[in-house]
Amino acid sequence: MANDSFRSLQLSKAQLDALDSLGYESMTAIQAQSLPEILKGNDLIAQAKTGSGKTAAFGIGLLQKLNPRFFGAQALVLCPTRELAEQVGKEIRKLARFMPNIKLVMLCGGKPIGPQIGSLEHGAHIVVGTPGRVQDHLRKNTLKLDGLTTLVLDEADRMLDMGFADAMQAIIGQTPKNRQTLLFSATYPDTIQHMSRQIQRNPVTVTVEAEH
Ligand code: ADP
Ligand code: MG
Repeated sequence: MANDSFRSLQLSKAQLDALDSLGYESMTAIQAQSLPEILKGNDLIAQAKTGSGKTAAFGIGLLQKLNPRFFGAQALVLCPTRELAEQVGKEIRKLARFMPNIKLVMLCGGKPIGPQIGSLEHGAHIVVGTPGRVQDHLRKNTLKLDGLTTLVLDEADRMLDMGFADAMQAIIGQTPKNRQTLLFSATYPDTIQHMSRQIQRNPVTVTVEAEH
């Protein structure tokens, strides 16, 4: 078996079936480097340019860990903009298409908060959103992160550039210390290294320079 085959990993049948239905035949470079570490439970810093398949890397990782019987937020993905969050939510829903009991809620700014509160009341395993709105829900107590097992910071460099550092810190402060933290970034400036030291434990770093 080629070592870039998804079948070289211990993935559920539902996950492999979803990958087949999406036509994902082999892992991209960033997936092949990061998924084994993610599935082991390690913290990770992954640097790769746009279009390299980072969403599926963390999406598969978080889906494999979910407990469908616990209807609280187990995975939180923070994205810099509503558009990016919506793309991520869509991709994770596709990856979860054969996991009918898994619920994902989008919490983005620029959208009415009422329906989001309603969705959260029904229970959500996965939350995808932008830092400002996620923080609003934490302040209102409509979102609780004490059962979180996976935190993903997607496009972390852009979130810092957009001034979300304080919101991110406030959110992370409400998550359990033993969570897995996955940090994805197109660039790796000092600010990212500094944040990683504050929020990650022995992170594995993977870098893919060119596209797969
Ligand atoms: P990034 O976040 O690195 O910019 P995305 O996660 O948005 O990249 O993925 C880019 C595109 O590649 C998406 O259209 C996605 O469906 C596709 N893709 C991801 N993984 C694979 C794969 N293993 N095989 C084929 N296509 C893939
Ligand atoms: Mg992306």
